[in-house]
Amino acid sequence: MDKTFKWHELSESFHIHDETKGAKDVLEWSFQKFHEEKIIYASSFGAEAIVLIDLISQVKPDASIVFLDTGLHFPETYEVIDRMEERFKDLKIERKLPELTLDEQREQYGSALWKREPNKCCEIRKVIPLREALMPMDAWISGLRREQSPTRANTDFFNEDKKFQNIKICPLIHWTWEEVWTYIRNRDLPYNRLHDQGYPSIGCFPCTQAVAAGGGSRAGRWSGTGKTECGLHTD
Ligand code: SF4
Repeated sequence: MDKTFKWHELSESFHIHDETKGAKDVLEWSFQKFHEEKIIYASSFGAEAIVLIDLISQVKPDASIVFLDTGLHFPETYEVIDRMEERFKDLKIERKLPELTLDEQREQYGSALWKREPNKCCEIRKVIPLREALMPMDAWISGLRREQSPTRANTDFFNEDKKFQNIKICPLIHWTWEEVWTYIRNRDLPYNRLHDQGYPSIGCFPCTQAVAAGGGSRAGRWSGTGKTECGLHTD
């Protein structure tokens, strides 16, 4: 990570009143700046991801994407990945597995670790595998939006990521939830069918619930536990 580069100033320099609120310009700059083997998109295949993949494919059709396959995703999530692979054939999508299978995790830590120690479970099934995928990279792309939660409200286009010792690029920070869906519909893109059943944010099935109308976009994640992030976006 270049410690002298003024990433915040760079973030401020992009125009945000164009059609993609700066997202496409940020992606074009990023894929020119970073070598193609040193930049990767870590995707959840949620609604923001569908937008981001479509934008990335316009800039870099054979970009690399990594999906953390915890083994605990909804069938609908695996289905939408298959549909996106079919639509964006040139993208390189890796399904990254944790070191421990679910059986091995149960043997070592007991059953349903996500109920007793969700941070430990996320560490094993998300943070460590993502660290393996991202540490060799100079930059990674994320679909964070500022309006998603207070913890994301100060996100820039370019962020020094101490956890993974590189740059986290967030092209969609200025997008609203409505704009995400307008884009998906206008482009007739595939999306996770659970979004139509009250799931705004979709993670592993043991930790994701539907949200009542008017609920926050991340209200269904680790509901009732006080946990709001899996640890990927906290230093
Ligand atoms: S979201 Fe839940 S099930 Fe998935 S890794 Fe984290 S604690 Fe485990």
